[in-house]
Amino acid sequence: MACCPDDQLCEHCYGRELVVKRRQARVIGQCWAERICRGELRAQAAWPEHGARTMRIARRLVGTLVKDPRLLDDLAAACSRGAAAWWERRPPRYRV
Ligand SMILES: [Zn+2]
Repeated sequence: MACCPDDQLCEHCYGRELVVKRRQARVIGQCWAERICRGELRAQAAWPEHGARTMRIARRLVGTLVKDPRLLDDLAAACSRGAAAWWERRPPRYRV
């Protein structure tokens, strides 16, 4: 039995969702960065973590994880942070 609607979580469920989904968002971000690394954008020295375009894509990538729109920005940020972290320690074979 759910305690509140998926798209209007109560404070308790919101906090719990955030912890769980943040982890997933980070993993999604890592896979995203790895995909980019194989493409033509690989030459960029650092991940544009807060760029407008980055955040737009991040929001789309985590969009399916949650129904409560308030979570979206937080998860998009976590996703981009995960990507940036992966980019920092990307394997030598991906560096140009
Ligand atoms: Zn609840």
